[in-house]
Amino acid sequence: MVVLLRSNPNEKQLENLVHWLESRNIEVHPTVGASQTILGLIGDTSTLDIDLIRALDIVEDVVRIQEPYKNANRKFHPDDTVVTVGGKNSTPTKIGGGNFAMIAGPCSVESEAQICDVAAAVKTAGATMLRGGAFKPRTSPYAFQGMRAEGIRLLLEAQEKTGLPIVTEIMDADQLPLFEDVDMIQVGARNMQNFELLKKLGHTDKPILLKRGLSSTIEELLMSAEYIMAGGNQNVVLCERGIRTFETVTRNTLDIAAVPVLHGRTHLPVVIDPSHATGVARLVAPLSLAATAAGADGLIIEVHNDPAHALCDGPQSLTPDAFAALSKQVDALRGAMATV
Ligand code: PEP
Ligand code: MN
Repeated sequence: MVVLLRSNPNEKQLENLVHWLESRNIEVHPTVGASQTILGLIGDTSTLDIDLIRALDIVEDVVRIQEPYKNANRKFHPDDTVVTVGGKNSTPTKIGGGNFAMIAGPCSVESEAQICDVAAAVKTAGATMLRGGAFKPRTSPYAFQGMRAEGIRLLLEAQEKTGLPIVTEIMDADQLPLFEDVDMIQVGARNMQNFELLKKLGHTDKPILLKRGLSSTIEELLMSAEYIMAGGNQNVVLCERGIRTFETVTRNTLDIAAVPVLHGRTHLPVVIDPSHATGVARLVAPLSLAATAAGADGLIIEVHNDPAHALCDGPQSLTPDAFAALSKQVDALRGAMATV
């Protein structure tokens, strides 16, 4: 339920309303927006008398939220959420509310030279964050599983050298101590509904990049975000990375509509991963531009200094030069969009 307040509400009356709601075991989440202050109510609101609340001088309206996700709901928080990533050992960067994230780096960390060279190259090309997998969810148990703790150590070295905030995937909550200096934690598509992991991440204060599951609906993605937010962590960025359809010419099918659909339903930022969505390097630039035009809050793109010899996802990886060219096109497109 959401209580929309009139402008400049009487403070004493507001305090009384909040105390009364809290005494009925309702959590009250106030949001001071640009145009209106609202109170988001979480708990069993079924017994509250809406007409009684609506009759208060300070209240303009009361709206019941039908959707099962509350914290993530735009009705609960009308303004875009801006997630700040980094700042402890890196240059802070913002995602959402007009701040565009350009996240780039290899699928997997493979060596010190590889991650540091790619980090320097993507930074020069305009990346705002560095990606790189240390714990890799691979379909085959015989495929390269990532450098694990050593991979995180090398990412932190690249973070220190470039100042870029880093994002890397967690596969199990037991790995959390290794993520102490990681700027943003990625929950991969295969773990989107690992609810125990999501609950534990909800108790951290790290920004989370939550990828949509291979066969998950938009509502399921929002419910997974809700798991993290219900624990107290509001710093969630959603990522559409392609879903399974009957089409086989691309690795997955990019759901571009997810960008405006999510923007309507949630205040959380939405980034697009055109690399896993297509599996084909040649398709990464056109889909990046399409995602930007659709209003995405950022892109996460796989870049490798030697795609032909990458240990993971070489065919979908851009070279640093191709990424630099794409980065210029994205900037130009955003510039053009800002003028119309
Ligand atoms: C990745 O980003 O490296 C990855 C494994 O992505 P996804 O979980 O979307 O498949
Ligand atoms: Mn990959």
